[in-house]
Amino acid sequence: ATFKELGVSEHFIQALTEMNINKPSEIQEKSIPFLLKNQNDFIGQAQTGTGKTAAFGLPLLMKINPKSTEVQGLILAPTRELCQQIAKHLFKLTKYAPEKIFVGAVYGGEKIEIQLRNLSRPTQIIVATPGRLIDLLNRKAISLKTVKTLILDEADEMLSMGFKEELNTVLRQIPTDGKKWLFSATLPTALQKLIDTYMAKNTKMVQ
Ligand code: AMP
Repeated sequence: ATFKELGVSEHFIQALTEMNINKPSEIQEKSIPFLLKNQNDFIGQAQTGTGKTAAFGLPLLMKINPKSTEVQGLILAPTRELCQQIAKHLFKLTKYAPEKIFVGAVYGGEKIEIQLRNLSRPTQIIVATPGRLIDLLNRKAISLKTVKTLILDEADEMLSMGFKEELNTVLRQIPTDGKKWLFSATLPTALQKLIDTYMAKNTKMVQ
């Protein structure tokens, strides 16, 4: 299939071409048409390097209402490096978007004051590590009330790094009509428990 056949908008295809991404990867083919329908929660079992960032990034970007400056998408990832990488990937994808979409990254290891200042500007998508996000929630610097899509990237990694409580806290705060998209290389018992507790019964799963 082509990205066009999967339902991806022309301006994103233009950006993809510039990034040398010309043909959808397997996980992209399986995820994008489903996520664009925005009907169910989703689990993608995929390793890094398979193109999973664009697999969730393109449908997420297509869901964002650029007219609203509220936080609409939240992506959690285990490390600072991955957060930066995801934010950069999304930023590149929006190069030819008719209206600007604002992506902000927050992670530990950088002064929280700087990130607080950045968040005072409109941010439609936040990419965060779980610990730093909780910190910002406790400071009331972020509210998750307007989040329409929560993405957990490398969910198994986040659990093995000890972020179980943080993930529980975030999952509890996502509005009930918000969609949850989870990507993970493996599905260990602890992750299955989280899935059973917080994700819809009719969650779609692809490998
Ligand atoms: P990811 O698995 O999202 O970390 O992506 C790994 C690398 O593959 C990144 O450098 C992407 O830019 C690249 N990539 C993503 N999708 C494709 C694709 N369909 N074809 C070729 N490269 C891709």
